[in-house]
Amino acid sequence: MQTVAPKQTLIFTDLDGTLLDHDNYSFAAAQPVLNKLAAHNIPVIPVTSKTKEEVLQLREALNLETPFVIENGAGIYIPKHYFSYVDESLQDCGHYWCKQFAPSRTFWCEQVNTLSVEFPDCFRSFSRMGTVGIAKATGLSDPEAALANIRDFSEPIHWLGTDREKERFISRVEAMGFTVLQGGRFLHLTNGYDKGQALTWLKQQYSRQLGGYQPFAIALGDSGNDIDMLEACDQPILVRSKTNGAMTLTTHVKEIRTRALGPEGWAEALCDYFNFSHETPK
Ligand SMILES: [Mg+2]
Repeated sequence: MQTVAPKQTLIFTDLDGTLLDHDNYSFAAAQPVLNKLAAHNIPVIPVTSKTKEEVLQLREALNLETPFVIENGAGIYIPKHYFSYVDESLQDCGHYWCKQFAPSRTFWCEQVNTLSVEFPDCFRSFSRMGTVGIAKATGLSDPEAALANIRDFSEPIHWLGTDREKERFISRVEAMGFTVLQGGRFLHLTNGYDKGQALTWLKQQYSRQLGGYQPFAIALGDSGNDIDMLEACDQPILVRSKTNGAMTLTTHVKEIRTRALGPEGWAEALCDYFNFSHETPK
């Protein structure tokens, strides 16, 4: 377990296209820096649109034992005994405590079913698509698609209708009191949660652990759903992406922009920031 020392820096990181290569999901280029951060007891906290089951597999590969944020900030899992206290709002989930910012998937499925009556043939939800349909739409293997479909707090939908119908759909969702988050491939209905809210909440937990001392939060991301997190942190790092355009932040902090793409950019920026020597991964 990583211990939390005073003068703590925290690293919050998006996964796809940021710590993981956009095309092959490799983090090899970031491995030497991950090792150095671990040696310096600097926690690396995944903040992702992925599900708990997907992150659990990756955490093992990344050798991380930190809390993690799933489904675009809808929930946070904290390993039991990571902090020396248990926040009153946490739920017991086996080896983890869970902080829930969104209603359950069942709730979202009910909303989506209602909308499917009004917008017939305009979209297909993950439940309807099933593992094979998700694999086809994402390029994931069947076992990976199965993990992506084990969801706690959201029900992504694959839009099949026209742009005009989509505009009408978004207005209808907003009239129901929700917002629509447009991801790379899917639409997500949310009740206002985002990655920034998750970062702020977790930073408060570290602060509590540190006896009120405010940790310094670095955040790394590459696309639109990272903006809230990048604006909520103390040092935003915008990782260059070949699929997303340049992002603009509304923040008084000077952001760092990487020259390299994905995990190469991730490693480059953190090496420079911490004055680590640049190493080529083996
Ligand atoms: Mg990303």
